[in-house]
Amino acid sequence: PQNSAATAALTPMMAQYFEIKAVNPGYLLFYRMGDFYELFFEDAEIASAALGIVLTKRGKHLGEDIQMCGVPIHAANDYLNKLIKLGYRVAICEQVEDPAEAKKRGSKSVVKRDVVRLVTPGTLTEDDHLDARSANYLAALAMVRHGDTDFALAWADISTGETFVADLPAERLADELARIAPAEFLLTDATRQLLVEKHLFAPAWSAIASTIAPEAADSEVALQLLRRTFPADLFDPTALSRAGRSAMGALVAYVDQSQKGRTAPLRSPVLQASDAVLAIDAATRSSLEILQTQRGQAKGSLRQSIDLTVTAPGARLLASRLAAPLRDSSAINARLDAVERLVGDPLLRARLRSDLKAAPDLARALSRLSLERGGPRDLAAIGKAVAAALELAANLGSQPDLPNVLVRLTNTLGAAPRPLASELGLALDDELPLLSRDGGFVRAFYDGKLDEERALGSETRAVVAALQARLMDETDVRSLKIKHNGVLGYFVEVPAGHGQKLLEPPHREIFIHRQTLANAMRFTTTELAELEGRIAKAHEAALEIELGIFTRLREDVLARTGELQGLADALAELDVTTALAEVSATRFYCRPQVDDSLAFAIVGGRHPVVEQMVRAEGQSFVANDADLSGSEDAGGGKLWLVTGPNMGGKSTFLRQNALIAILAQMGCFVPAESAHIGVVDRLFSRVGASDDIAHGRSTFMVEMVETAAILNRATRHSLVVLDEIGRGTATFDGLSIAWASVEALHETTGCRALFATHFHELTSLAKTLSRVANVTMKVREWEGEVVFLHEVGPGAADRSYGIQVARLAGLPDPVINRARQVLDVLEQRSAGTASSSQKASVLDDLPLFAHQPAPAVKSKDPIHEALDAVRPDDMTPKQAIEALYELKKLR
Ligand code: ADP
Repeated sequence: PQNSAATAALTPMMAQYFEIKAVNPGYLLFYRMGDFYELFFEDAEIASAALGIVLTKRGKHLGEDIQMCGVPIHAANDYLNKLIKLGYRVAICEQVEDPAEAKKRGSKSVVKRDVVRLVTPGTLTEDDHLDARSANYLAALAMVRHGDTDFALAWADISTGETFVADLPAERLADELARIAPAEFLLTDATRQLLVEKHLFAPAWSAIASTIAPEAADSEVALQLLRRTFPADLFDPTALSRAGRSAMGALVAYVDQSQKGRTAPLRSPVLQASDAVLAIDAATRSSLEILQTQRGQAKGSLRQSIDLTVTAPGARLLASRLAAPLRDSSAINARLDAVERLVGDPLLRARLRSDLKAAPDLARALSRLSLERGGPRDLAAIGKAVAAALELAANLGSQPDLPNVLVRLTNTLGAAPRPLASELGLALDDELPLLSRDGGFVRAFYDGKLDEERALGSETRAVVAALQARLMDETDVRSLKIKHNGVLGYFVEVPAGHGQKLLEPPHREIFIHRQTLANAMRFTTTELAELEGRIAKAHEAALEIELGIFTRLREDVLARTGELQGLADALAELDVTTALAEVSATRFYCRPQVDDSLAFAIVGGRHPVVEQMVRAEGQSFVANDADLSGSEDAGGGKLWLVTGPNMGGKSTFLRQNALIAILAQMGCFVPAESAHIGVVDRLFSRVGASDDIAHGRSTFMVEMVETAAILNRATRHSLVVLDEIGRGTATFDGLSIAWASVEALHETTGCRALFATHFHELTSLAKTLSRVANVTMKVREWEGEVVFLHEVGPGAADRSYGIQVARLAGLPDPVINRARQVLDVLEQRSAGTASSSQKASVLDDLPLFAHQPAPAVKSKDPIHEALDAVRPDDMTPKQAIEALYELKKLR
């Protein structure tokens, strides 16, 4: 409202709307009116477009129509979900008083309304909005000092209470965010500005970034807030860096604000030390397809392939372990001990898995109860989880020779509060409503008073039935019925033909007309109204008792929040341990020997995902050895140069070794006959690099930036897996860069490395560099065709079989034949010429188009059209094979 005329024209309701809208900028306002949430003005336009719902008009504002759209309360969750998924933030505004109260203040006054909750991608708690098997993190970033490029990051999942904080140098920011993958990312404008200036702001973050006010990141304010939020005996905020405090404070403040006074059960923040976990940068994560494939799908990822957990919390923990394998060999071995124990005991494993299935998602149920958003089903979930924990503890406790991890889990599970589980089991019915206000969730015989009220209600219903029989007799209308609906309550209904009779004496003394329908007439009677009052009262009294019971049980549960969260952790950990044992046992994985050496010796290694796919097609996967083991004395680990044709299995071999390191360090057995791995501190993988065109960087540029990152950051304890460095530029440039990179990795870094290349010239490095060895993917030639054996053997490939692969991919015969000719000439002429520059001059004077005319252009048929569309240089081997099948189909 800009001027007085407009203000004068403003209805009280609109005035209230503007007031609420003004204090919640940046949110779509869901404004409660009766059974709808209404949206107005621009919000309405946005929502109607996003949700595909009708945009209507209501009254005028400043002479313009007021745009409006609404979503019904009962379907609001679905709409809310859609909006959040699209990246919108929503403020839920409810009526916070009985409309009758407002009436009392005068006919013009509006019902009081207030925002009860801000819904944002990082603050979700309902199952409808969440992926059960993934965490949903909210992260907050703070600068160490204004303008400084060292940061602290705090992150929490309010649906489970998990909370973390870490100090981060600028160079690790992108990697950490890639690992955590927050749904929402809080930062001040100043921080954002700085990140953008320093080229540290990844474009993908725009979609998840939420701006917070500078005051929100004040470390002094934060200190006070953190002291109020976390129990002093569990967490000392002064132990955090100033930036850590700012980030944590901003996070807590944002959560508090979004929940409008309700407490999210945030657990005491866990300080994450940067050297505790295997460092995996964003590019490596994506290249190895750990949690999702490069196309963003779960299917085909390492996670999907090994996730045999039976509970959602187990699946979440497995994902977080995969994202952050350990670096401490004794911690890794402790996990492996537990897995090994269960691998060796199939019966126990099966038993545990079936018990675990009965354990619901305790952490998320607890979080909802804490936020006053939980219902009877959440209470029941807690009871069932506790019962399952006790059952599991009993099973485990009777086993001999439990390793430490399992002993610890048994103790935690065994300490679960049995009385709480019994109480919940006694109180709650088998079938439960979602909301406590729906009532009917308390079991019979649990509460005497409740049983009485319920009996009263059902007795009265019996009296109603008797009344129906009596009225039927008195009126002699056999089809007379007493019915009930939400609008009229109880009423007497007779077919239209009998209605008139009841309107006349003597019946009209008794029957009071309520409604006439096309084929029926409805009445009430004094007696029925009175009975109805009694039923309603009994119902209300019963509901009140039930709500009282709900509140008491909820308080019982919340009083044990910390204990129950610990129990949730133990259940998830047992699920992960059992699931990893199941994978290890059923897929014939072996326990890796993990220590602090520079060993990397894999015998009979397999790719955990490709193996499954190859098997599914009824073929067998060829296992391959890798030995990159080295020592400090020798100057570091080995570097294997891998050559071989496209489709020969190079990428698979490279990736499988990186994945074996990840699996070993997360505490899982590995797909191999035997494996000896000295703990890897950082893992770098660049395999199958793809164009980053969306970000305006060419393949070559991306490759160089990433190679630089590796050469600058890899240490002697790192594992580096590189595919075809230098491919994206002119041959000599590329070769020289690849050459220099191999030398640097060998001489300076001394890391264990696998380096796949098409530059056969590189293989001569094995003669001069002591820890470089050549291996090649074996191929058999048969009647002019290549057969890929997928077998790694010593030596270097003598040729690349590019032409054979091109033929497999369906390049037209004339082109293939011509390519053969060119190759022959090249090979003849270069025979005996050692230097590449001479080879180049050969290329220069080769008359490319002289001997044979270009294949004549025939009239286009589907096959030729499809062929024209094939761009072999832009294809992955897989796409090439698919194209080949497509072509075959066209025949
Ligand atoms: P390259 O990187 O040499 O082009 P890939 O590693 O992409 O080759 O392998 C091509 C295909 O060959 C894979 O998709 C897979 O189906 C198959 N393959 C690779 N390695 C093996 C293996 N060890 N055993 C069986 N099949 C394999």
